[in-house]
Amino acid sequence: MSTISEKELSDYRSDAAAWFAENTNADPGFMLPLTFMEVGTDQQFNFLREWQHKVYEAGYLGAAWPKEYGGGGLDQKFQTIATEEMAKANGPIMLNAIGLNWAGPLILDMGTDEERKRYIKGILSAEDIWCQGFSEPENGSDLGNAQTKAVRDGDDWVLNGSKIWTTQGNYAKYMILLARTNPDAPNKYAGLSFFLSPMQVDGIETVPIRKLTGEYGFTQTFFTEARIPGDSLMGKEGEGWLVAMRTLEYERGVKGGQPGGYVMRASDPFEIVELARKATRGGKPALEDPVIKDQLIQLMIEARSLQLNSKRGHIQPLVQDKPASLALSSKLMATEFMRRLNEFAITLQGQRGAYYVGEPDAYDEGLWQRAYLNSFSATIGGGTSQIQRNIIGEHVLGLPKS
Ligand SMILES: Cc1cc2nc3c(=O)[nH]c(=O)nc-3n(C[C@H](O)[C@H](O)[C@H](O)COP(=O)(O)OP(=O)(O)OC[C@H]3O[C@@H](n4cnc5c(N)ncnc54)[C@H](O)[C@@H]3O)c2cc1C
Repeated sequence: MSTISEKELSDYRSDAAAWFAENTNADPGFMLPLTFMEVGTDQQFNFLREWQHKVYEAGYLGAAWPKEYGGGGLDQKFQTIATEEMAKANGPIMLNAIGLNWAGPLILDMGTDEERKRYIKGILSAEDIWCQGFSEPENGSDLGNAQTKAVRDGDDWVLNGSKIWTTQGNYAKYMILLARTNPDAPNKYAGLSFFLSPMQVDGIETVPIRKLTGEYGFTQTFFTEARIPGDSLMGKEGEGWLVAMRTLEYERGVKGGQPGGYVMRASDPFEIVELARKATRGGKPALEDPVIKDQLIQLMIEARSLQLNSKRGHIQPLVQDKPASLALSSKLMATEFMRRLNEFAITLQGQRGAYYVGEPDAYDEGLWQRAYLNSFSATIGGGTSQIQRNIIGEHVLGLPKS
């Protein structure tokens, strides 16, 4: 039973609100990424790295992670408050998303004490950026078919193959990597192992990939006789599938343990109200059109119910029978909703919806267009919407396999 008083929590909230109000710089004079998948320039990277470091130093990131590994050792309630205040201040996103939300919780959960001591603090402070080497050019959804090879040679492992869509691959110091260590295993899952692999070694090369928006944010990663130390292996050889599945639980929001901070700035239906005042229909503000008003109210209701649904996912008695149910449906619904929301904001603009970032006549500097094109990312990364539906159908609803 928690002994934290309401006063302690409300004092903490006031302190956090004051700190974020004073320290948040949402407009550094260049375009900031809306999500961690859009970090494409050194300027953006350096700014966000410094920002994460500052938030961590102030105690508002990793507040509930164990003290001995660099966290704050506080109750999760404090981190939740800090994250809420961070979001209210509408500040920049946290940069090291894969480290913070997948690798970090995984290492705390399944790693050795040595691994926790080695990696956790660098993740929180943004000293060590992490990336994820799961998808391959021929195997994204079919992760179990990964073909990148790791062969033991003396104390080392030697890597050959290629990974693709490696978010922040060009900035990362470490990669969570799934590789095939036994091509002759009785089934494809049994031949995989999981590595906490260094990235700055000979034979690992990252080539940036340009996205639909013209920005960069991910890379293709090539391994050519790349030699990594023996202790990069996480868990036991041949048990990589188990570790990868646990990682995906973190990625899809099924498991808790997040260190706080937000890594994607969500579009807000209330901001569309402002847009609807500016945009016109038949010479009048679009907001005066009763159909548009109805559509906006509908979007607000959806946004609110998604928020509440995601909170329900943390209420233990509601999810104890099917722990994954609400989190999986939240990921699916929230990402699809965000895509529809941005699409609506563009439709509202009429022909001016065709302008993009940098064009003088674009509403809100083309923010909605950029957010729309980028919003497809979240419906694909971490499992596409189709795959999410399959998982929900099979594992939550108990339907036959697709
Ligand atoms: C912005 C972005 C960032 C990413 N970052 C990373 C990263 O950092 N690290 C990483 O490892 N990966 C990353 N990914 C890759 C992502 O996880 C994969 O794109 C995703 O898993 C889909 O794999 P794929 O692209 O190979 O598509 P495919 O698996 O080839 O699928 C193509 C289409 O077929 C559908 N499909 C496939 N199989 C089935 C099925 N059984 N039933 C129904 N439909 C099916 C899919 O849903 C999809 O619509 C990122 C992707 C994006 C867009």
